[in-house]
Amino acid sequence: MAKKQFKAESKRLLDLMINSIYTNKEIYLRELVSNASDALDKRHYLSLTDDTKRVDDADLHILLSVNKQARTFTIEDTGIGMTKEELEKNLGTIAKSGSLEFKKENEDARDIIGQFGVGFYSAFMIARRIEVLTKSVKDDSSHIWTSEGADGYTVEEAAKEDYGTRITLYLRENENEENYDEYLETYKIKQLITRYSDYVRYPIQMDVEVSKPMETEENEEPKYETVIETQTLNTMVPLWKRNKKDIQQDEYDTFYMNKFMDWQKPHRVIHYTTEGMVNYNALLFIPSKTPYDFYSKDYQSGLQLYSKSVFIMDNAKDLIPDYFRFVKGLVDSDDVSLNISREILQQDRQVKAIAKNVEKKIKGALVDMLVKEREEYETFFDNFGLQLKYGIYEDYGIHKEQLQDLILFKSTKEDKYVTLKEYVERMKEGQTDIYFASGESIEQIKKLPQLERVMEKEYEVLYFTDNVDEFMVRVMNTYMEKGFKSINQGDLNIDTEEEKKEKEDLKSENKSLLESLQNALSEKVAEVVLSSRLTSYPVCLSAKDGVSFEMEKVFSQMPEAKGQDIKAQRVLEINPNHDIFKTLQSVFEKDADKLPMIADLLYNQALLIEGFPVEDPVAYSNAICQLLVDANK
Ligand code: ADP
Repeated sequence: MAKKQFKAESKRLLDLMINSIYTNKEIYLRELVSNASDALDKRHYLSLTDDTKRVDDADLHILLSVNKQARTFTIEDTGIGMTKEELEKNLGTIAKSGSLEFKKENEDARDIIGQFGVGFYSAFMIARRIEVLTKSVKDDSSHIWTSEGADGYTVEEAAKEDYGTRITLYLRENENEENYDEYLETYKIKQLITRYSDYVRYPIQMDVEVSKPMETEENEEPKYETVIETQTLNTMVPLWKRNKKDIQQDEYDTFYMNKFMDWQKPHRVIHYTTEGMVNYNALLFIPSKTPYDFYSKDYQSGLQLYSKSVFIMDNAKDLIPDYFRFVKGLVDSDDVSLNISREILQQDRQVKAIAKNVEKKIKGALVDMLVKEREEYETFFDNFGLQLKYGIYEDYGIHKEQLQDLILFKSTKEDKYVTLKEYVERMKEGQTDIYFASGESIEQIKKLPQLERVMEKEYEVLYFTDNVDEFMVRVMNTYMEKGFKSINQGDLNIDTEEEKKEKEDLKSENKSLLESLQNALSEKVAEVVLSSRLTSYPVCLSAKDGVSFEMEKVFSQMPEAKGQDIKAQRVLEINPNHDIFKTLQSVFEKDADKLPMIADLLYNQALLIEGFPVEDPVAYSNAICQLLVDANK
């Protein structure tokens, strides 16, 4: 029988696994048990939905055994089994495709083991050889898969009486201070099952040697005999069905990490039972880190759905709104039909009621965290806040009410997060709008000249650093009846009546200068104005109401907006209190043909400050050079 090679990617991962210094070897058992339990779930489900595949509940179990002489450990389930194709597909490829590309050179094995659930292969940490004997309920065929690790595997036909899978691990020899013997000890196996797999819904049984008192005559010494007894090692009550009070945080953590393949503990656990219109238990988790594929198409959202503790499906998207898609977990309801299909999920009355309720609970938990554990909430927000912002933006803002109080921004006030509510509550007298400033980073925004006047007036400005931010507030329109105002767009509403009057006068005095500047830049800007935004900087750009600079940048990166050339209408603002203004006035009087060149330089400067490239770098640097030469004449 020719050996088949693992797919290249699998081989590398396998090597890594086998030679890893990964200390938590004992997870192998939880992985194997969890696979067995899944296989039993599938068989159970089939049995309930297909009359020809019936099986007695009593026949669904997991059996563990050891043979100390042969140094083998065996785990057998009466689950669905695997066909030949499934063996090849499931055990010939390790982990999910692409997972290795993601792995950076020096990342430690634990990260992959956790993130991608290399599951079955973790057994190679303690086994030198693995045999998988399986009989499939689907086609009645039996096969045996054998592998000694990285050099490949074989699949052959075999004989097996019962449906299900028997996996035999041939333990490694003790070496290099690693001792594998304890994995053959009953106490160790019991300990691992209690720790990691207690809630598994099927009995995990093991033949255990126990010593029993023998019948003796009245005054005889007590005698004991060793008998083999089949013990069930787990309590079998699913975690979510147990009383919250009796559950240790530790149990939630292990359950989550095991079931949802995360190597980090959850950030938050939401566990509750509802009785009333619909009865269900929910056990929900907020991860403590954004999954690496969260914003990619590969990310699977949705909750697991159980009916009467029978697993029905993974990733039921209709149970949870998209803006909470970071939540992992499960719902178990007696009221949902076992035969429910993915397609009708959406229309099902019970499912709808559950989904509504789930949403309310998550929202409640988040609000609670925000109010009572601000730091925790901020960590959460760093991970998933962006999703909430998209939630507000999507569907034309219909979820605005639901989400707007969950959003945080950093602001000029103290570089700390602030909610919109907090912002509005501490607005200064006379301030009519919520000010924001957009840019790549807070550092960059802080340098924006347009911030000057607003800061001088001691108005708080929100930093918008996510692409979606501006789009989001457009959709929101107002918050507590306050509008949103970008510091570099439109009228800032910032001048006092007196200042306005002054500006008007100055404007009419310099009417022809402004007109000439405007003419010189007619192709580039919509207007040249005297600025209300600046105190010390000479010039800046602002956008007229409508498309903003930030939006322009976002659009220019979107393939679907290519060619449409969506642009902000530029306004060149000149600081009337800056020396440059006096220079302009005198050039205009004495040397008017130089004005276009200077106008162009100022415009390009403003572009640079705004983070746009200058339009003609060569002309720009020639002009500067000329200025330097002239200055020395
Ligand atoms: P995962 O459990 O994350 O999918 P594994 O590497 O642990 O990854 O297992 C790969 C696949 O092999 C499983 O998804 C399942 O289809 C199949 N498999 C593993 N163990 C069993 C088993 N005991 N019975 C039936 N199928 C199994």
